[in-house]
Amino acid sequence: MTGTRTTCPYCGVGCGVIAGRSAKGAITIAGDADHPANFGRLCSKGSALGETLGESGRLLHPIVRGQRVDWNVALDTVAHGFADIVAKHGPDAVAFYASGQLLTEDYYVANKLMKGYIGSANIDTNSRLCMSSAVAAHKRAFGEDLVPVSYADLEVADLIVLVGSNAAWCHPVLFQRMLAAKAQRPQMKLVVIDPRRTATCEFADLHLPVKAGTDVWLFNGLLAWLHRSGFSDAAFVEQYTSGMAQALAVADATAGDTAAVARACGLDERQLVEFFALFARHERAITMFSQGVNQSSAGTDKANSIINCHLATARIGLPGMGPFSITGQPNAMGGREVGGMATMLASHMDLENAQHRRTVQQFWNSPAIANKPGLKAVDLFEAMHAGKVKAVWIMATNPVVSLPDADRVREALRRCDLVVVSDCIAATDTNALAHVLLPAAAWGEKEGTVTNSERRISRQRAFLPLPGEAKPDWWIVAQVAQRMGHREAFAYENAHSIFVEHAALSGEDAAGNRAFDISGLAEISGSEYESLPPLRWPVPARIARGDGGDSFSIAQRFYHPDGRARFIATAPELPVHRTSQEFPFALNTGRIRDQWHTMTRSGRSPRLTSHITEAYVDLHGDDAERLGLREGLLAQVTTRWGSAIVRVRCSGEMQPGSIFVPIHWSDQFCSHGRIGALVNPVVDPISGEPEFKHTPARVERFAAAWFGFALTRSSIDTSSLDWWTRSDGTDCVRTELAGQQSLPDVRAWAAHLLGSGEEQVDYRDDSKGVYRSAVISGNRLQSVLFIARNAELPDRGWLSSLFRKKVLSIADRDLLLLGASARPGADHGPVVCSCFGVARGAIVSAISKQSLQTPQDVGRVLRAGTNCGSCLSEIKQLLAAR
Ligand code: SF4
Repeated sequence: MTGTRTTCPYCGVGCGVIAGRSAKGAITIAGDADHPANFGRLCSKGSALGETLGESGRLLHPIVRGQRVDWNVALDTVAHGFADIVAKHGPDAVAFYASGQLLTEDYYVANKLMKGYIGSANIDTNSRLCMSSAVAAHKRAFGEDLVPVSYADLEVADLIVLVGSNAAWCHPVLFQRMLAAKAQRPQMKLVVIDPRRTATCEFADLHLPVKAGTDVWLFNGLLAWLHRSGFSDAAFVEQYTSGMAQALAVADATAGDTAAVARACGLDERQLVEFFALFARHERAITMFSQGVNQSSAGTDKANSIINCHLATARIGLPGMGPFSITGQPNAMGGREVGGMATMLASHMDLENAQHRRTVQQFWNSPAIANKPGLKAVDLFEAMHAGKVKAVWIMATNPVVSLPDADRVREALRRCDLVVVSDCIAATDTNALAHVLLPAAAWGEKEGTVTNSERRISRQRAFLPLPGEAKPDWWIVAQVAQRMGHREAFAYENAHSIFVEHAALSGEDAAGNRAFDISGLAEISGSEYESLPPLRWPVPARIARGDGGDSFSIAQRFYHPDGRARFIATAPELPVHRTSQEFPFALNTGRIRDQWHTMTRSGRSPRLTSHITEAYVDLHGDDAERLGLREGLLAQVTTRWGSAIVRVRCSGEMQPGSIFVPIHWSDQFCSHGRIGALVNPVVDPISGEPEFKHTPARVERFAAAWFGFALTRSSIDTSSLDWWTRSDGTDCVRTELAGQQSLPDVRAWAAHLLGSGEEQVDYRDDSKGVYRSAVISGNRLQSVLFIARNAELPDRGWLSSLFRKKVLSIADRDLLLLGASARPGADHGPVVCSCFGVARGAIVSAISKQSLQTPQDVGRVLRAGTNCGSCLSEIKQLLAAR
């Protein structure tokens, strides 16, 4: 296939993409069959990348204090602003807050400026929110932040244990690879450890619905049981590790009694022992963990308790085995490599190590070098709130939505003297607080590299021109650095010149002492960089340009000074804030299948918004009933830190006492859906990662006097509404509405909300609180509004489809205010298969009418699930429900 080979900008799977053009000139997106991460597959998000491009909604020009300015003015404003504050208050009074969305080259330049030239380590990143606990655990166990497993290992493993990972939705292509391997070798076992019964569980041989926050009990229990049962590998432990006795003593003391472990974890003891026995029986065992482990006040200990079990049984360093942290973001790993976090230096060197500091400072020839860790994300914004950090530059991220206690983050930014945001999107909750807005290049316009979860470095390549005055992030940072007086050190010509410097630094004084070494790439030419194939580090000079493709061999060594891996004694701790009478639910937050982060890009794709159109709180059916809630109503979720109003959902995934709300909705899409504002700001004491998975919460019915929805050709003014949420569909904009006061003159109110047209038809029944209206112009539907006292409103599917029609038929007009087609099955509910636009109703109907038995049957009949496979779990659920 011809086109530009690049990499998906969403999750840490790091799939290869080929961006091409159709005969009509439209951008086409396809999976790269030669890319070793995905071999041609893309999930629903990757497949819809083409719909997120274009200039609509882009930040295209520099803006200073609300005025459009040229780049010179903007860059001078930033450079002088930062320099002045450093001069007056010292280097620690300024900060950068970066993102796992940045390319490695962008990250490298930002880190160099902050740590080597400003002289502070106050550069942290939103990667702190997703995998910093895994990084801290790797460093404690291995001496370096290394991931000892590859995707290919997953395919040869005999047991895959997924802990706190809804891989079916969050790392879909990798999950599909696991399922394909399992289909080839049905003896491969899949165990899911997760408080929720997620889509991933549909394919599991065993699901352990562990009580939130009890993972350390479980893995301490496993360690103690393995040792007691004779499964420890004494020779490996003796030769390659240290600290097992201490770790085992703590495991025995806290989790030596399997029945007690089962009770602590809320599990059936037989199931627990079944898991222990599975782990013991399968030498090729991989424990893949993700945010459910990391996002915790004990995240680092949780990760180390997992690693301990692999060290005890020597299940590491050979094909098909090892502990595997899967990253959330496309370049979380690349950011770690360049040291783009407050706790690292560069090239996996340590801030606290004087020799490392000398090495980096000499290499950079820099006037300064940070000599102590900077502020981690939550502490950084707290320091802004306290007035200690006075200037911040936020790059490619949206902390007013994504950080915990997000209202306080908003206030912290208000208190800053200087807030700079570089972003490709114009309107975000964070941009609203910026003094300076800098237009950054978006995916498809940037050149550079990213590193995925298996240490594979891949190129992102530009296939679109830079729109407006947008510039690559590295260029923006380098220009500011030059204006701060560091002309020579930041005189980069292009991404290649940065990459080779980064590669050269990784080899400085490495001499086999650091795992991250890509000095074999330090002398690649511009054209070699252009055509760089995906490759896994390390690529040291001595095997120049090879591919460190295999798992780390235990023969190589670990990276503590004694060359040994370390067991870490992990004492179990419950979450810091416990549920109580006032806040009886444990609030868990996370991603949904078809959205990414704060929806600034994925929210632009009608295909992606059609799967789940609005934020929701998922709770157990018994809890819902007790609270007088049912699907479709609105609930207010309140914590000590904030409150949200979202739709009620009872998916069947939740345990009693637990609730789940997705993280994606911002003030741009919903009046009360910004869930970060509810999350407690407690962090893991070692990694600084926030406890996104456990905040005590209360749930109440939102007392709405009426519910409704509007379908319109463009966005409506929502400023006077008590509650609303918006999704941009293919044919119309859908706004769900609710109000706490009745609408005395609903007709006038509707006319004000929707505007006028040539024709307006409406229906009103005050006794039932029902009002329905439609505006038609030129025989085309312009808008509809449906209001009801209860939440029972017609499906939006058929009405939405009328916006596609150039002319409304007589039958359409007759049924318009009924809100339903005369054709049975025309209202199909939410889209399940985004690739082929197959809705839930169509699948349910086909299953029933044609007696379909398997996802393959459904695929044969409807094509659903036959492309990316992201929806296979839901299809399986629908089959099971029948
Ligand atoms: Fe992108 Fe999906 Fe691949 Fe993740 S799994 S990199 S979101 S295509």
